[in-house]
Order: sequence, then structure tokens, then C-alpha cells
Amino acid sequence: MEQIYSYIDEHSQRFIDELATFVKQPSISSQGVGIEDCAALLTRMMEAVGIRYEIMPMGGDTNPPLIYGELMAPAASKTLLIYGHYDVQPPEPLEAWHSPPFEPTIRNGRMFGRGTADNKAQMFAHIKAVEAILKTGNTLPINLKFMFDPEEEIGSPNLDRFIRTTGDKFKADIGYYSDGPVHPSGRPKISFGNRGMCYVEINHQEAGRDVHSGHYAEALPNPNWRMIRFLNSLKDENGRVTIDGFYDDVLPVTEIEKAALAKIPFDEKATLEDLKVSRLNTTEEVGFWEMTTLTPSLNIAGYASGYGGHGAKTIIPCRTKVKIDMRLVKNQNPQDIFQKLKRHMKNHGFDDFEVKLLSCCGPRRTPLDNPDAPAFIRAARKVYEKEPVILPSGGGTVPLAFFDYFLKVPLIAIPYGNPDEMNHAPNENMDLDLFIKGIKASATVFYELAKV
Ligand SMILES: [Zn+2]
Repeated sequence: MEQIYSYIDEHSQRFIDELATFVKQPSISSQGVGIEDCAALLTRMMEAVGIRYEIMPMGGDTNPPLIYGELMAPAASKTLLIYGHYDVQPPEPLEAWHSPPFEPTIRNGRMFGRGTADNKAQMFAHIKAVEAILKTGNTLPINLKFMFDPEEEIGSPNLDRFIRTTGDKFKADIGYYSDGPVHPSGRPKISFGNRGMCYVEINHQEAGRDVHSGHYAEALPNPNWRMIRFLNSLKDENGRVTIDGFYDDVLPVTEIEKAALAKIPFDEKATLEDLKVSRLNTTEEVGFWEMTTLTPSLNIAGYASGYGGHGAKTIIPCRTKVKIDMRLVKNQNPQDIFQKLKRHMKNHGFDDFEVKLLSCCGPRRTPLDNPDAPAFIRAARKVYEKEPVILPSGGGTVPLAFFDYFLKVPLIAIPYGNPDEMNHAPNENMDLDLFIKGIKASATVFYELAKV
């Protein structure tokens, strides 16, 4: 590995320049800006290191180009599928940037620009690892496949369907991706899963218009009283969701998961101070990490009705709207949860409310005792020279459930970004030392996997 690491160090300035070229090309999926041009640039960068590529139009309304890449190693017996995304979030608000979002600028050892950390530097690290291995006269120790998503930032609306229609092309023994930050302590982080999502909007209307509360209260029904009763029916006083069957498919937390959760650093006092709250809802039995990663949630994300402006306004609002996100854990199915919610509404007399499913994404989780897991742990330990933090699952949602449910490829992630990468926000940036470390991490993962 030393020879490969030296190559990476010697060529680090060029890698940074190439990353700047990649970041300079806008690729804003939600605005349809620059995706095709960025796809073309990416394929040139893949070709330059010897990765065979295919541009695969995904169909759907916008027919965005998924980039597939492949590099087979004659002697290798293992195939790794790498996922990454080359689209970025919109850069707005532009005035909040200290340098223009698509003019990558280096300050204090970081590259500032939209898409630097999320996800261009991180996915580019895998490509540069291939270069470092081949240019030092080595042969690739494993077969590599790449899947570069053009729409991750808008929830990959076409990906699931597309993967199901492309058959065996993406089959592999193990999957890998890098997105998000290392642990705030600087220790590397290895994540084995994500929660899924069932996001609903519920609307309820009584009168045809808002009216004077002095003239009509209490004669006219205010839709908020029933909405509040409905919301109250969703959880008991301990915070447990009371939708029939909500927890039916949740897998019990295993001993090995419990042991891993216990090792994740958590400073409760600092968290309370940071958030300016006096307590968390965690219990003796279910601690912070179990509650936020391996337990499903039901959260009121928004409530809108009536007058919320300055001063007093006396009305009976005619309509009320609620947004609810449910984070789901392995084996829960978002469509099934949506049906269970609708049944709950019917059984409790709220079936006149209008309910819409806004987004839906399955959970996924690779077991911690997956035989390839130690390779990722060894690679992270070697490159970062610190003990990795093992997350049985992240709390957030990534649209990659098809790895579990369709491809049947276990997926493991090591994020390469800095904790203050400001992803999705103005002044997004990538720590360039971590970018270079990421290239080494990718190369090391390839070699460690080959040993398993
Ligand atoms: Zn993102």
C-alpha cells in the first residue's frame, strides 16, 4: 500500500485541480441544470483512468443519465459495486456564499463550492484510487462496478424502477459508498444502514372560507380540534406509535448491534446544551443511538392553520394541514405503513381527511457480522490511524433500499467528508486532506476486500 499512498501524495495537487474541474460543472438535479454536461465530464474522467463506462438513460419524465462503470480484474474473484451521485443541491441563497458556488475556491485547506463534499469529492476519490493502483503498476485486486446517480438530491425518483429493469448488470458481492462526514471526533465512521421514510400530508377542511370567530364560535366547527384529536390518536403517553401493526415487522435489536451502539460516543450533556433543552425522550431501555437509528419514528414535521402572524386576528380557520414523517427501520415497508395509517384513520373516524403520500423510501441494513465488514474496519483503521465508529444504521434516509431488496448486495459506507462540510447549505466545502485520505481509503478498501 505504501507505494500507492506515495503516488496519491505525489499527485495530490493534480487530483485537487481535477476535482475543481468537476465542481465547476454545475449539475443541479432539482433545477435540471448541467446534468448532461456533468455526465459527459464524469465519463471522460472515468475513461482517463481506464474505467469502461456506459451512459444509461433512466426513463421517466426527464430521462436522466445514470453512469455505469466497470473495471474487471482477470484474477479477481470478488466484485464491489460502488454507488455515488454527481448531482448537487441548488446553491441558493447565492448572497450567503463567500465565493461563487461554481467557482471552486481554496481557503484554509478546504475547497469551497456546491457539490464539493456532497458528493463530488467523495465519489471522485474512488476513481482516483483506481488510477493510483493502476499507475503504480499494480493490477486491481477486485472487480469494480460503479453506479453514479444523477438524481440523489431529489430522492432518486427513477432509480428503484430503473435498477429493477436492468437485470444483472449491477450484481456484485458487496456494495460501498461514501457520503456525509467522518465522526466529529475525527474518527472514521462506518455505517451499515439507513432508516426508510414514509412522508404524508394530511388536509382537513370544514367551512368554505375563514370566518369571524365572534360571529360563529362555537357554532361553526373548527377543523383544528379534530386534527388535534387525530394527532393525539397516533401515539400513547409514552410516545409509542398506536397505529395498528406499526411495529409488526421491526426486527429485534441483536446483541451485536447493542454492543456496537454502546460503543458510539454520545455526550448527553453537550447535546442538551447545544440544543438548549432540559431532557431527551430516551429511556433506560432505549438509549439515544438505538432510538435514533434502529427504532422507527413518527414525527409531526409541520402544522399549518389559521393566523400565525403578528398580533391578534380573530378567525375560525376553515382548513388545517399537517405533515408527518415516519422514519422506518429494516423490514418495515413504507407502502404497508401508509396503508396501516389509512386504516387507523378509518377506524378512528378520520377517513374524511385527505391524506397524500409525499415520499416513500425503504429502509436497509447490512448485518454487522457480514463477512466483508472486517475489511472495511481494517481499511478505515489503517488510513485514519484511529478506531472507527461503527453505526449499525444511520438515522437518516438514503434511497438505496434496492441494494437489500432487489440486488441483494449488502452495502457498507465510509463517509469521507469533514463534519462541517455544510452540505446543502451555502459555503459547502471539502477538507482537502480528507479528500486525499479518502482516495487512500478507497484503495485500501479494495485491497482489504480482496483478502476476505
Ligand atoms: Zn446531499
